[in-house]
Amino acid sequence: MIKTDILIVGAGPTGLFTVFEAGLLKLKCHLIDALPQPGGQCSEIYPKKPIYDIPAYPEILAGDLVDRLMEQIRPFEPGFTLGERADTMVKQEDGSFIVTTNKGTRHHAKVLVIAGGLGSFEPRKPLISNIGNFEDKGVTYMVKDPEIFRDKKVVIAGGGDSALDWAIFLADVASEVSLVHRRNEFRGALDSVEKASELAKLGKIQLFTEAEVKELHGRETLEAVVIKHKDEEKGQTYLETDYFVPLFGLSPKLGPIGDWGLEIEKNAIKVNNSKDYQTNIPGVFAIGDVNTYEGKLKLILSGFHEAAVMCQYAYQIINPNKRFVMKYTTVGGVEGFDGSKK
Ligand code: FAD
Repeated sequence: MIKTDILIVGAGPTGLFTVFEAGLLKLKCHLIDALPQPGGQCSEIYPKKPIYDIPAYPEILAGDLVDRLMEQIRPFEPGFTLGERADTMVKQEDGSFIVTTNKGTRHHAKVLVIAGGLGSFEPRKPLISNIGNFEDKGVTYMVKDPEIFRDKKVVIAGGGDSALDWAIFLADVASEVSLVHRRNEFRGALDSVEKASELAKLGKIQLFTEAEVKELHGRETLEAVVIKHKDEEKGQTYLETDYFVPLFGLSPKLGPIGDWGLEIEKNAIKVNNSKDYQTNIPGVFAIGDVNTYEGKLKLILSGFHEAAVMCQYAYQIINPNKRFVMKYTTVGGVEGFDGSKK
């Protein structure tokens, strides 16, 4: 069981900045995210787009903003459970919470913060009837640790940047990489398309275009896929493999959070914005894109503000007998940034 003061569901910009605000109050945080990397929409949807409305940054790439946030929270040593979706939440008799992920990891905290943005990003799955039987037994929808593919056979499906980038990367790791795409043209960046074609010419990637993986075979774990070609003359290819990685993109869904007994309005969680951004369940806060109230602006800076306010109230729940005194960082300093304080 992972124990912490504040458990944050969602490691987008809002969840990350919460660690900083909580850290100033000497509260420890742990974050859960369904994605394999922190940063939420900024990392997953638009890492290379410039943002123009972050105070004091006339322009910053979304991916760089995430890097800066990670740097800013490093002194507070947050814990991360990445690549796992928070599935169930059970309130304990003492008012604390146990949150369990889809992989069975359990977390315990006095305060629960939902910073789940648009919801957890769920992979778009190909329509293959028995695919569920092979999930985590050869079928995976995201690459968390490329080392698991070392010296293995991998079939990747998809035509976008993720499929191309991983096929290129794994060409030097896996024993055999096949890339299957149902069209002739790839949607990814031109240089990635060129790199993949070069690797195909060198025999380091097997390219199957105008083709789709239609069947999965194996006893306990995946052993082979059947690729169906659009060109009827080519028919089907039976390909032995250890892994099948369909990379067809991710779509956000509020998901299991919607079943936690929270008051939901238009797919977002209602909060008390005149005070602390608490939900209808005492001790559960919702901040950032995931919440709704009159006048809500779904902007990164709204999430930052909500995190700062919410942490003050979390402090009072965690330390009911201590008086809270707000200090400017310019006065109190930040442990870890100032070498003398570490
Ligand atoms: P998100 O960034 O959505 O992060 C939430 C995280 O929670 C996700 O990583 C998700 O996987 C995780 N999660 C959810 N449910 C679960 C669960 N059950 N278990 C585990 N993890 C879960 N905003 C601006 O201010 N300026 C801009 O210029 C701007 N441009 C944008 C451009 C684009 C193309 C897009 C798509 C958005 C833009 N935005 C912009 C909006 C901004 O990205 C969002 O306001 C911001 O990302 C919200 O941050 P968040 O941390 O609240 O949520």
